[in-house]
Amino acid sequence: MSTTLGMRFVPTVGIVAINRLAVVLLLALQALAAQPGASNPLAGPLRELQFGQINFLHTTDTHGWHAGHLLEPSFSADWGDYVDFAQHLKDKLEAQGRDLLIVDTGDRIEGNGLYDASEPKGLFTFDIFREQHMDLICSGNHELYQQNSSENEYLITVPAYASSYIASNLDIRDPRTGEFVPMAPRYKKFTTKEQGIRIMAFGFLYNFDRNYNNTIVQRVEQTIQEEWFQEAIHDPDIDLFVVAGHSAIRSEEFDMIFKKIRSVRKDTPIQFFGGHYHIRDYRKFDSNAYGLASGRFMETIGFQSIDGLPSNSTQKTAPTFFRRYIDNNLYSLYHHSGHDSSTFHSDRGKNITRALHEARQALDLDQTFGCSAKDLWMSRAPYPSKNSIFSWLEEQVFPGIVNDTQRGDKPRLVISNTGAIRFDIFKGAFTKDSTFIICPFTSGFHYIKDVPYNKAKKLIKLLNGGGEIFAQVDATLALSRLEPVQQKGILQDIIVSETVDPAPLFAQGGHEMRVPTDVALIPGYTTIDDAGDDGDDTIHSPISFYRVPNCIQSLINPQAVDLETENVDVVFNEFIQPWILVGLKFLGLEYTDDDVAKYMPDENMTTMIAKWVSLNWPDDC
Ligand SMILES: [Zn+2]
Ligand SMILES: [Zn+2]
Repeated sequence: MSTTLGMRFVPTVGIVAINRLAVVLLLALQALAAQPGASNPLAGPLRELQFGQINFLHTTDTHGWHAGHLLEPSFSADWGDYVDFAQHLKDKLEAQGRDLLIVDTGDRIEGNGLYDASEPKGLFTFDIFREQHMDLICSGNHELYQQNSSENEYLITVPAYASSYIASNLDIRDPRTGEFVPMAPRYKKFTTKEQGIRIMAFGFLYNFDRNYNNTIVQRVEQTIQEEWFQEAIHDPDIDLFVVAGHSAIRSEEFDMIFKKIRSVRKDTPIQFFGGHYHIRDYRKFDSNAYGLASGRFMETIGFQSIDGLPSNSTQKTAPTFFRRYIDNNLYSLYHHSGHDSSTFHSDRGKNITRALHEARQALDLDQTFGCSAKDLWMSRAPYPSKNSIFSWLEEQVFPGIVNDTQRGDKPRLVISNTGAIRFDIFKGAFTKDSTFIICPFTSGFHYIKDVPYNKAKKLIKLLNGGGEIFAQVDATLALSRLEPVQQKGILQDIIVSETVDPAPLFAQGGHEMRVPTDVALIPGYTTIDDAGDDGDDTIHSPISFYRVPNCIQSLINPQAVDLETENVDVVFNEFIQPWILVGLKFLGLEYTDDDVAKYMPDENMTTMIAKWVSLNWPDDC
């Protein structure tokens, strides 16, 4: 591995600084792809890719962010740029006799205006996504919540990737025949073009159970007993197993698949690609088996290479595995492909970039509802605090907007799970796009009326600290399902000291890290995984991560009545209804689904936040 020190505008003196400034300006002028108005990438120190016989690019959990992050320089490249990057890398590698395979592990929809703002949803995204060649692709859980999204998968995405979509444990009711059929083939056996590596590939989904009833997700432990799977792993002519799966790489599901393959193939290399937890992660299963998770929201393009596989040459060596998390911006993509702004962008890539821009315009995603005076963070600020998005919801948004006129001034507890929020709010324009980015969920609020306050007030404590008791009632009620998904993979706070003072800053039970002071680095991912701390392509300064509770709550009491002997309405987002009912039961209150009604039936959290912003934030940024 070598390190390239990139350019960065820092206030130093002399000719060096002038050169650096010139390079930065040049970069700013020439970075003409990505979306119009997107932040230009900042040059930073980069770690190189290490190529192997076989190489992979991996995306996961893109959730509609195919236009990239317009407000964040580190992630400002779009899907058109990724298509160009993949092609350039493929050309470069194939010229050296190496292979490149492209993988996506699902959750391509829901979470960005580009997908969610159209009617029907996804009107523009399917055609844009399929412009990227894929060698392996599978479904995430988000494709399966709604009947129409899974049917889009079956009728649009599967045919577009007829030779690469794999559905090892997923069936769908064919809308044309009414019969349940496999979403796609169960496995794929193929030989790579350059190296002749013989691959057996699978496409799994974790044991997901909240799908709409037009799909069936077979539990992984059952699938791996099936005859077709047994035959596939007993196939003697396989050099490498590739398991693409929408699953955390540190999951029971991947453990089971790994053990099952190892029970018959004791050292055949296995490469897992996973996701779902929205984190960068790399797991060593054993010396011949690794798993890569490539983040979320088009922030990361995962790179994996393997060398030392049996191939055309008969030499038998131990395989070596290498991973890198590429920040999705043009500075990184130019560098790793060996191109610059004058050679990188093809007509094909530019057409995709243009299609994305036109879709964003047609959807009016830049329409501004108001201007945020500061950043509001999910996990970069402690909760509660003035910079926490959850404190903002609890203290300002819910009290300001959650009010069903049918219930008048009835005192109420408004409870939401923190997992309902998906992203930060940045200082500046809060747009139509922002509403879907921070909360793409279309489900509304529900309520139970006239619940004794002295019991209802204990609900939040149960939801946040109830431990195993909910899961003991029903395994699907594990409380961890309420928290933001990226928190599942980060089990303790990471608190970054912002001072250069030598006095260490300790987080209770957490990691403490210190920002290096010798280089001015851009804050960003500083991943630590099973291969160490050098996985990120861009060397960043670290960012704090504060865990948040499962749920937040506002107590709204307009008449300031004494609540102790009073009844209140318990209002909650629809998703958490099963936990609310079980929680109330623990508190001695028997309610069923029949006691639940819709609260503000024409609204949902997304529309309510948009309304609150329109009413409360100035609209000229
Ligand atoms: Zn996801
Ligand atoms: Zn997922």
